[in-house]
Amino acid sequence: MLDDFIRKEKEELEVTLLSPFAAKSKYSKGRVHPERECPIRTCFERDRDRIIHSKAFRRLKHKTQVFLAPKGDHYRTRLTHTLEVSQIARTIARALKLNEDLTEAIALGHDLGHTPFGHAGEEVLNELLPEGFRHNEQSLRVVDLLEKDGKGLNLTLEVRDGILNHSKGKGPILFEKERALTLEAEVVRISDVIAYVNHDVDDAIRAGLITVEDLPEKVKKLLGLSHSERIGNLVKNVILTTKESNTNAILIEEKYLETLILLRDFLFEKIYFSPVVRKEFEKAKKILSSLFEFYYKNFDKIEYFQRASQIFTNTPKERIIADYISGMTDRFALYQYFEYFIPKPLGIDIESRSFFNEF
Ligand code: MG
Repeated sequence: MLDDFIRKEKEELEVTLLSPFAAKSKYSKGRVHPERECPIRTCFERDRDRIIHSKAFRRLKHKTQVFLAPKGDHYRTRLTHTLEVSQIARTIARALKLNEDLTEAIALGHDLGHTPFGHAGEEVLNELLPEGFRHNEQSLRVVDLLEKDGKGLNLTLEVRDGILNHSKGKGPILFEKERALTLEAEVVRISDVIAYVNHDVDDAIRAGLITVEDLPEKVKKLLGLSHSERIGNLVKNVILTTKESNTNAILIEEKYLETLILLRDFLFEKIYFSPVVRKEFEKAKKILSSLFEFYYKNFDKIEYFQRASQIFTNTPKERIIADYISGMTDRFALYQYFEYFIPKPLGIDIESRSFFNEF
């Protein structure tokens, strides 16, 4: 019988080897529902494993990152984006002697609440829900409540805080006044931006929307001409600037931050709000708002919602529907749309049901 000594040994190693600024699993603020510790894994390793084994994590593979239903096999999905964030964040965390397991857990969980069809889904639900909708808050709702039939994953406070605080939209990339609980959360926040601006450039070039020459001069000069150079230079700068400052904050040199923002603005203008992408974006919004309206009107007739109402008691109808829609993969949303809005030729059985009829 193991007597926790393996986990305890790892906890002690963290105290000895990690930076004084790192979060140590031994001193975690714990879980909402206290549990017996795992004899082998630290609490953050255990959280990472719970996220990887969750259904919401598996569904990320069929969720859009930016390009809706692209034909090529090499475009990013929400899952590959998540893995790229995790890889970048772990590189930074390890170099700074921060807690790599905590960093990985936050990175793998950060986008679990993302809707189908990328930000089109987020925009629709934000318009339809009285309290609005933000994917980072939804990611927390997934791990706290929606997974495991309403029981949630019962993660540590540090992982939950990191998931909630990863997102900034077009807001500041570095933390300003309101700080996250851990530096590991700050690492994931900047890694998310480093990952998406670079892979979105790569995918936009793949799609023929831009060429490398179109990138702003400053980006080409400071960050480099290839995908790997651009990521490498940003990651190196975060590590060196943070190390040199020796303060309790994740930093990046001002000229690199400006260039990162410049690249992000370039993507907003040339890609995210380009007519080609927006046209498909509007179609996706139409699909999801039609489904929302249909579910709202037929709430009592749909078996899924009857079961969900028993589990999520005292939860408004709109909220239950938003949870359902935001959990969908792109293809399931399309199947649902076909099911309810497209007439079926008589005698032909369109397979459209029941691969998502569980929580
Ligand atoms: Mg992300």
